[in-house]
Amino acid sequence: MSTVLIIGAGAAGRVVVKKCLMNNDIFTDIHLASRTFSKCIQIKKECNDKIQIHELDADIVSNTISLINKIKPSLIINMALPYQDLPIMDACLETKTNYIDTANYEPKDEAKFSYSWQWAYHEKFKEQNIMALLGSGFDPGVTNVFIKYAADTFFDTIEKIDIIDCNDGDHGYPFATNFNPEINIREITQNGRYFKDGEWIEIEAMSVSKNIDFPEVGIRKGYLLYHEELESLVKHFPSIKQIRFWMTFSDNYINHLNVLENVGMTSIKPISFKGQSIVPLEFLKSVLPNPAEISTNYSGKTSIGCIITGTKDSKKITKLIYNVCKHEDCHKEVNAQAVSYTTGVPAMIGAKLMLNNTWEGKGVFNMEEFKAEPFMNELNSQGLPWKAIDCDSELD
Ligand code: NDP
Repeated sequence: MSTVLIIGAGAAGRVVVKKCLMNNDIFTDIHLASRTFSKCIQIKKECNDKIQIHELDADIVSNTISLINKIKPSLIINMALPYQDLPIMDACLETKTNYIDTANYEPKDEAKFSYSWQWAYHEKFKEQNIMALLGSGFDPGVTNVFIKYAADTFFDTIEKIDIIDCNDGDHGYPFATNFNPEINIREITQNGRYFKDGEWIEIEAMSVSKNIDFPEVGIRKGYLLYHEELESLVKHFPSIKQIRFWMTFSDNYINHLNVLENVGMTSIKPISFKGQSIVPLEFLKSVLPNPAEISTNYSGKTSIGCIITGTKDSKKITKLIYNVCKHEDCHKEVNAQAVSYTTGVPAMIGAKLMLNNTWEGKGVFNMEEFKAEPFMNELNSQGLPWKAIDCDSELD
């Protein structure tokens, strides 16, 4: 019997709500709160009124504290934006409430994401006897669990990891992002980074690409990006010598992005427009398709996995662990596209494992700090089945 408060009625938040409802033996009372109340109303309608909804601006810590005191949830699932991570964690500390999210904190005025801000809450969460689970989406999230599972099952030591993320779907729009456009574009337009031989190597944004054979999709061009799970995996698996993250983008997507960048529309520096201060990227977000509303005619698959090289009994081996998800199936099941689905399902699973005390701890944790098997089993039964296969060769 658990009351849960989901904050954020967006593309991925909708999936979390619906998946929690499908697991109502654990999530007995589901509350959804978000800034734009009409989005909560819409989701409640899609759930046949089986949830309770609230209007909340989670940037204001005292508002979140008041709501928590009113409904007394065992856990908050933060499905709002990375900017809200710290204010929501502050409200959790004040009310001794457990916390989970899918993306690490990022200050609004600087496109820099790092776990350092949230890891700094570890002692405070420990003192309050509560737990925070960071990054329980697909990547980060499932990718971290894949690595932990590989370490427990296949390897004595892990040395090299390539996380490969392909969205081979077609939504039919000239240009649309699959999760919050502002966060997505900030992520892609900042410099890339990877870890090699004890050092972080920075590269110009989107300047390194490679043809990668994605499972059940085929060869697509992946671009080297910085992604937050690289930071936590390097910390928790000191044997890693190299770790990189690759994501596909169509030529059409890159062309649009280049033009938008060239004309200044992706800038996060405020400008004065007709006497008002506006941030170009925030304005751009308001004219782009909403990722929560693009699933109707979305076809194709996502294919996301980890290519892992290491040793077993002194022999070098390479494994690939991956999931393939179809946009059409996600739309049918929960009225969402596969990127929202692959984010929302793991958020629900992480929450479930916390609430049934399978994953326990006091303080702030990343996914790879817990036993992987219960999470891997849940992936299979909750709509994200995975496969682990031998690879002939690693990614060069
Ligand atoms: P959306 O923009 O669709 O949804 C975000 C929701 O949060 C919106 O409903 C928004 O409200 C709400 N929100 C924003 N600010 C506040 C606030 N101050 N108080 C209350 N609610 C607020 O984004 P997505 O659903 O696509 O993404 C959600 C999160 O998931 C993001 O943090 C994203 O980075 C993360 N993500 C993680 C992935 C992973 O694999 N780990 C992959 C994809 C996404 P409003 O409608 O008013 O704007």
